[in-house]
Amino acid sequence: MKLLEDRIRNEGIALSDQILKVDGFINHQVDPFLMKEIGDEIGRHFDEKNITKVVTIESSGISPALMAAMYLNVPMIILKKQASKVLNEDVCQTNVTSFTKGTSYELTLSKKYVTKEDNVLIVDDFMANGEAAFGAVRLLEMVDAKIQGVAILIEKSFQPGRERMDKLGIEVFSLARIAKMEKGNITFGKADE
Ligand code: 5GP
Repeated sequence: MKLLEDRIRNEGIALSDQILKVDGFINHQVDPFLMKEIGDEIGRHFDEKNITKVVTIESSGISPALMAAMYLNVPMIILKKQASKVLNEDVCQTNVTSFTKGTSYELTLSKKYVTKEDNVLIVDDFMANGEAAFGAVRLLEMVDAKIQGVAILIEKSFQPGRERMDKLGIEVFSLARIAKMEKGNITFGKADE
């Protein structure tokens, strides 16, 4: 998606050959107009898949996931990273290791909101090692939901997440694919269409 690639080129900061900072429009300050375009692009791509729920992982996936859910006219579900005192209903949980923090968290889904009747699209901001997306997949498999695909804003193709997801036979739709990064320099690969 040219619009997103341009923003990354102009405002993204490659902190190292592994970590890209996009705090000015995705992760800290959020550009709602960009998110609307992203949501529409994701929505159009999955329009024929009869999606019934869009699922994301808190917190940076929420903005694009909400916009995609709006386009597809379905609810959005946020997988929780933190135990909540009010989330005392029937839940499923799985352990995920955070790429950026190196720590682990229990990803949690209330069984009330996704069931075996659902056709689910997962949306997240980054794909690195794929741990977050795999955590979402495991939770959705626990409730027997059908996974129609994973939409990612920024895939770092030199990290293994995409290939692992391909091996599982789950479609990954990445709006921007980074082939290579060095401090201060970003090289794009061909985005998914
Ligand atoms: P994964 O689970 O695929 O290894 O990493 C994905 C998660 O880690 C994303 O949800 C995102 O929050 C975070 N992440 C991974 N790589 C980056 C990065 O280069 N920059 C930022 N800001 N977050 C990242």
